[in-house]
Amino acid sequence: MDKTDSAGNFDDPDKEALLSRFLSGEIKVLEPTYNPEVGYHYPEAEAIVGDAAKLQSVLNKLVSEKVLEAKLFDKVIYCPGCGSAGINFRYCCPFCKSFNIKKSSLIEHVKCGYLDLEENFHKDGKLVCPKCHQELRRLDADYRKAGVWCACKDCGKSFDIPVPEHYCTRCHSVSNFEQAIIKEVYSYTLSEKAKEDLSSNLFLAAPLRELLLQQGLRVESPAQLVGKSGATHNFNLAAYADNQSKVMVIDLAMSTDGLVSEQPVIALFAKIFDVSPDKAFLVAIPRLNENARKMAELYNIEAIDARNQAEAVAALKQKLA
Ligand SMILES: [Zn+2]
Ligand SMILES: [Zn+2]
Ligand SMILES: [Zn+2]
Repeated sequence: MDKTDSAGNFDDPDKEALLSRFLSGEIKVLEPTYNPEVGYHYPEAEAIVGDAAKLQSVLNKLVSEKVLEAKLFDKVIYCPGCGSAGINFRYCCPFCKSFNIKKSSLIEHVKCGYLDLEENFHKDGKLVCPKCHQELRRLDADYRKAGVWCACKDCGKSFDIPVPEHYCTRCHSVSNFEQAIIKEVYSYTLSEKAKEDLSSNLFLAAPLRELLLQQGLRVESPAQLVGKSGATHNFNLAAYADNQSKVMVIDLAMSTDGLVSEQPVIALFAKIFDVSPDKAFLVAIPRLNENARKMAELYNIEAIDARNQAEAVAALKQKLA
């Protein structure tokens, strides 16, 4: 049994519940939401799985099974003292470590080459060169920005590169890069492999197959049946009872953006017209559109609407009872 088959089993209901939201398209990208106390978390997924710790283990499992793909979303700095994510980033004086510093821009007058702090060019609401007294009108023509210059208001020293520091807004402790606890935060999407399995309905077929086997039927999935015409037809599942004399066929149709159309109903009808099974089911995720439903009724196809794997299994179980 490969990794994908195991993803289709009900070994962990929380995992199944979360995965079904991805498979149905309800969750396209699981992105974290920022909360100043706890940092990033995933409220919509926590609501399905229970709590944050459980969710992370479920997500890790789905990533290791290559069902989900994790993409680096951000990195969060936590206070090494109290664990809070409420960290303020401060720029400090490299000499005395004070954060009471003033940042200024350096400006160069292109024509005369004079370089000074921007504030020394300010005169009556205009920029005027203190050396040659010409007005500076256009950026990158008359003058250019030549970087930043900082002055410490505590020790009076000047510098161009400040040093960073983390201030915890909860416990008020100060830490630096070396002491900081930095955690990676990810967004999650279905993997390409999972999408392929999804388009071949492998995800959904696996739990339905389990159910049919539990009912004591012989199951083929995918199944090939030869019709009266001699042509071979493919179904997602076929189940046999009473020594092969009775056969039911099941096709699966999934739409990740709204309703399932008439097309799979027509396709299934064409096949059952030739094969004449005792029963034909069409499982539609999330559900058939109105025309498709009417057509299914007309063609004697039992339509099952289900939002996810679990609902599909429960609905089919009821129909078989
Ligand atoms: Zn703290
Ligand atoms: Zn000048
Ligand atoms: Zn200083």
